[in-house]
Amino acid sequence: MFADRVLSGMRPTGNLHLGHYHGVLKNWVELQQQYECLFFVADWHALTTHYDSPEIVEKNAMDMVVDWLAAGVDPSKAVLFIQSKVPAHAELFLLLSMMTPLGWLERVPTYKDQQEKLTEKDLSTYGFLGYPLLQSADILIYRANRVPVGEDQAPHIEFTREICRRFNHLYGKESGFEEKAEAAIKKLGSKKSKLYRELRNRYQEQGIESALEQAKSLLDTQQNLSMGDKERLFGYLEGGGKMILCEPETLLTKASRMPGLDGQKMSKSYNNTISLREDPERIRKKIRTMPTDPARVRRTDPGNPAVCPVWQFHLIYSDDETCKWVQHGCTSAEIGCLDCKAPVIEKVLAELEPMRERARIYEEDPVLVRNIIADGCEKANQLAEETMRDIRSAIGLNYS
Ligand code: SF4
Repeated sequence: MFADRVLSGMRPTGNLHLGHYHGVLKNWVELQQQYECLFFVADWHALTTHYDSPEIVEKNAMDMVVDWLAAGVDPSKAVLFIQSKVPAHAELFLLLSMMTPLGWLERVPTYKDQQEKLTEKDLSTYGFLGYPLLQSADILIYRANRVPVGEDQAPHIEFTREICRRFNHLYGKESGFEEKAEAAIKKLGSKKSKLYRELRNRYQEQGIESALEQAKSLLDTQQNLSMGDKERLFGYLEGGGKMILCEPETLLTKASRMPGLDGQKMSKSYNNTISLREDPERIRKKIRTMPTDPARVRRTDPGNPAVCPVWQFHLIYSDDETCKWVQHGCTSAEIGCLDCKAPVIEKVLAELEPMRERARIYEEDPVLVRNIIADGCEKANQLAEETMRDIRSAIGLNYS
């Protein structure tokens, strides 16, 4: 019913590194070729955990957008914006909070997990409990039906789907819905009306999913129906009311294999990162001093790549031939660890070079970045407002 639309956001928590590139940004760059994409700086989300240090948020937000642009996110293809510049996110969050059972929020797996992990912070706050609902508002306000997330975040999308269904169930029942839906069916023309009714019956009476899909495809191709009528007929198929919000689907992203310099997951908190705009000399030094197989003390000792963080980098960056060279050279002690690290250094630098180039343009002209963001915020506000109009009207908050 609604156009395919992707939404994804990132908290502004500092310079982005290779973990972000391989885990998120590379995927964004691909997605922007296939879908209408909205990418946002989740600054309100950052405050749910960093409410006591808000000063970092603004600076990090601007730097982060430069990193996105450097990585190849293209503002002519995707809308880039800042969450707090689109106040409708907060309005929808508030409205959704009225109908969200407390137990649903307490059951979100990351709620307890994060509280236990981030022990240095007091996260027994209303904002922290509510952050999955803020995420739901972020998604639902754009009627984004594709949300790229890793497996750990999939429960948040499921939660959003439940919120969406609850909302549509509570507020999608406009007065005279059935009559309006019946009138809309007639507008399909006699043949298609008949087909629509048959498919609806098959789905509702026998639960045949393919009939539902076929009916949806039929509606998708109807040019002569208004958006309101289409929404009614989509809702009528499943027996409910008008669909106001759109259920998002998870676009599961493969877990990133990007390890840190010490072999753990690359993360700022482990101090094992390579930033996207890091100076090449520092990168060389960082890789040259990476730990290796601890049992390989002398150059003449054979090593074991399986326990070496450098090998993890080869798995990402090196071709088969180089990997074979490492396996053989390491286990036979024919190569030293510095020899082994050389191709990794070259590959990492080659990957980051075009990013540094692109970033330079924006670093030299910060107004350019501000304009991109301002433009994105304007577009995001327009899209959000379209949904909010329907929401206010459905709830009965249209004081006009
Ligand atoms: S030769 Fe390479 S894989 Fe082997 S221990 Fe040294 S750095 Fe690691």
